[in-house]
Amino acid sequence: MAPEALYQELVQLAREEALLGSVAATLEWDTETYLPPGGVENRGRQMAILAGLLHERAVDPRRAELLEALAGSSLCADPAAVEAVNVRELRKGYERERKVPRELVEELAEETTVASAAWAEARGRRSFAAFAPHLERVVALKRAEAECLAAGGDAYDALLDDHEEGLSMARLDAIVTPLRAGLAALLDRIQGARRPPAPLGGGDYPVAAQRSLATWLAERMGFDGARGRLDAAVHPFTTGLGPGDCRITARWDPTDLSVGLFAVMHEVGHGLYEQGLDPSQWGLPAGEQVSDGLDESQARLWENVVGRSPAFWRFLWPELAARFPALAGADAGAVHRAMNRVEPSFIRVSADEVTYHLHIAVRIDLERSLLRGELRVNDLPAAWAEAYRSTLGIVPPDDTLGCLQDGHWAAGLIGYFASYTLGDVYAAELTRAAERTLGSLEPAFGRGDLAPLRSWLTEHIHRHGCRFGPIELVARATGALPSAASLLARLERVVEGTIA
Ligand code: ZN
Repeated sequence: MAPEALYQELVQLAREEALLGSVAATLEWDTETYLPPGGVENRGRQMAILAGLLHERAVDPRRAELLEALAGSSLCADPAAVEAVNVRELRKGYERERKVPRELVEELAEETTVASAAWAEARGRRSFAAFAPHLERVVALKRAEAECLAAGGDAYDALLDDHEEGLSMARLDAIVTPLRAGLAALLDRIQGARRPPAPLGGGDYPVAAQRSLATWLAERMGFDGARGRLDAAVHPFTTGLGPGDCRITARWDPTDLSVGLFAVMHEVGHGLYEQGLDPSQWGLPAGEQVSDGLDESQARLWENVVGRSPAFWRFLWPELAARFPALAGADAGAVHRAMNRVEPSFIRVSADEVTYHLHIAVRIDLERSLLRGELRVNDLPAAWAEAYRSTLGIVPPDDTLGCLQDGHWAAGLIGYFASYTLGDVYAAELTRAAERTLGSLEPAFGRGDLAPLRSWLTEHIHRHGCRFGPIELVARATGALPSAASLLARLERVVEGTIA
């Protein structure tokens, strides 16, 4: 058979798998948004049967034959050609799936569905005890999966690599160690600095008005509402269900405007990446996000670089003031400074940009210990409290403000948290590179003109899919290998602004 015909057969197999995957993703989205508690057990079984079918297709011997035949063919002679990219990346996917037995894939799908529901309930009741047995099972299953993937290597490294190709604890340390040192120095500098007045909390911000603001903001950022929608979820997330269907979610706090505002900007950042992918490559690696770190870089860039910039805030303020009478008479500049104040706090997603990475560091240390069996699940609340005391100098008063705040571990996302720090590192580098081409972004932010930045990101990141690995993609966009230096420079400016 001619390589073109083999390639078309491979594309068809991959697209069928992607379609089946999008069915599973639709159910996952429903689980997080509308599923009543009574439907959880059955949903777990639905997810397990779909995961098994997906796995069966992923390790289909015909796929292996096609990949083998195509790898040395004329179609793959140019490694940058889209066919070569898809063959190379599909082969990696095949090798990955082959290492994990079907039963384990099914068990993980079922248990993480049930555990996520148990987590949401336990979080509402502020009690870790009800969630502990579920987390115990998820950690055991993830350990088994990591051992399959590691094939004799380090299990935690295998999970890091699963989210960010090529990532290991050693490589992460090389980025994070100078970052942590820089953050500690920044925190020392603000000790004793004058605290700005109260932020956006403690007010009256009706949820309906917040939703209408979110819709307006998403459109302003360039999110195509005809190819996506916005709903509420306990833990906000974004998922692509097809080439014209991107779901974003947020959560609203009627007393604190910043919770929903930044959740929306973060998730729309993910959504713009999804909508900026090449639709002709849907269901294939060339039409997918390259890594979780790059995905988070887009979300964190929109949330922080845009959302927290003084110029964008000046643009946003009249909209906020018109929608929320609680802000009548408030000073926009003072609210902006208060919103960006740097101060140890309990909740990661509401943390300022400086202390944020200390929250991440705590999670990386703890999940690594859990996976290795050095920390028992029942001891997690105490270990969490101790880690916050020693890292941020504060001790959470309950589990909801402590180890129950994130849904990641319940969902089996051990090894994911590093993506947020990498994402900020990438975002700072990308922002600098964009400014070299576009000039200072602040004047455009001040006009609410976000199209130049969005187009730059689409051109340099989104449309490439998995054509290059994450590090190479960032290096091609910025002209240098990513390091923590740009992020530290940015955070220094943030600190200057907040104590000015
Ligand atoms: Zn995110």
